[in-house]
Amino acid sequence: MLQKPKYLECKTIRKNEMSENLLLLAGDGIGSEIMAEVEKLIAFLNKSGKTDFKIDKGLVGGVAYDAHGEAISDEDMEKALMCDAVIFGAVGGPKWDNVPYDKRPEAGLLRLRKDLGLFANLRPAICYPALSDASALKPEIVEGLDILIVRELTGGVYFGEPKTITELGDNENGKNQKRAIDTQIYESYEIERIAKVAFDMARTRGKKLHSADKKNVMISGVLWDEVVREVASENKDIEFNHILADNCAMQLVRNPKQFDVIVTDNLFGDILSDTAAMLTGSLGMLPSASLGAPDKITGKRKAMYEPVHGSAPDIAGQKIANPIAMIASFVMALRYSFNMVELADEVDAAITSVLADGLRCGDIMQDGCKLAGTREMGDAIIAKLEQ
Ligand code: NAD
Repeated sequence: MLQKPKYLECKTIRKNEMSENLLLLAGDGIGSEIMAEVEKLIAFLNKSGKTDFKIDKGLVGGVAYDAHGEAISDEDMEKALMCDAVIFGAVGGPKWDNVPYDKRPEAGLLRLRKDLGLFANLRPAICYPALSDASALKPEIVEGLDILIVRELTGGVYFGEPKTITELGDNENGKNQKRAIDTQIYESYEIERIAKVAFDMARTRGKKLHSADKKNVMISGVLWDEVVREVASENKDIEFNHILADNCAMQLVRNPKQFDVIVTDNLFGDILSDTAAMLTGSLGMLPSASLGAPDKITGKRKAMYEPVHGSAPDIAGQKIANPIAMIASFVMALRYSFNMVELADEVDAAITSVLADGLRCGDIMQDGCKLAGTREMGDAIIAKLEQ
């Protein structure tokens, strides 16, 4: 189980001094259905005196475009900048397929990541004991799996300039030709700050870190490795390993339990974290966190917590979506933004226990188990906490 990261042990913050302001951005599709279960859980925790969360809400994605003509309004962006943690549902759907590119639902998510400076994406892949059969891999390979991928989120080839398509005219066969360019750029400070987060995370877990890059064919990989090794030399209590990203993908499906924390860039992290995700069974089970730099005075990081899955338009409105990824994302907020480690462990244990009892949403349904809708699953988790 994940422990609180070291930077949250910062002396300037004690739990009872911390404000607990959440901004809930449910978004589109199943977003509002699964967020309702988080709201129910927060109301329960507040009522039982365990927390004192103050909740604000806003619009993001297609619903924000419908309301304001933008994927997130300046007013809601301001709220996101002021709160202690953003809890985000999902955005997108066919209704908005033809809106202008800069106003598409995903633009809201990208603006949040950029304006909050969320450079570290944490993607745990945990295999709940009751679900080891649901993985595409053999149960003995995934049972007890608990790994964390730390992905650099704001740099690299997705954002590097130039990013162009150039017309080249016709070739000798009269066929039109174009040239597409993406640019992979990393500066030392970007690599250093993500490496530091990853080493801090490893220290709270299995004390083992792999850095994945392609230094054999990419010069940006050479710098990546050089900087990560420098950070490793300042963190000698953590076992450090270098791995080529393609080998890492292979090892993730061959023997995933050899890993504890993997740190990697934006592009490889996108692919490796989805590979790791699938080891655990279903998209409906996977939470994530995105963190920014620590505030110089309070030590608190800007943070956003969201399920890995999208807005699932195919099942939206049917009240059958699995709320566990959404609830587990909120649990990451308890852990990383509010230092409520014991409470986070309690909610994680409640999820594990509900699954052990055989309750399942449709996406993780197995023979002999009881099918639950979104609300029933949320209620069952709260009932376990009440016990
Ligand atoms: P998706 O994750 O929404 O759905 C993929 C499949 O998984 C679907 O069959 C869906 O029903 C199922 N699924 C997803 N979450 C589930 C849950 N909680 N419970 C049960 N089943 C679940 O991906 P997609 O279909 O490729 O994309 C749909 C929309 O979501 C698109 O508009 C896409 O751009 C958007 N999207 C948004 C995000 C985000 O907001 N972070 C991420 C991925 C995709």
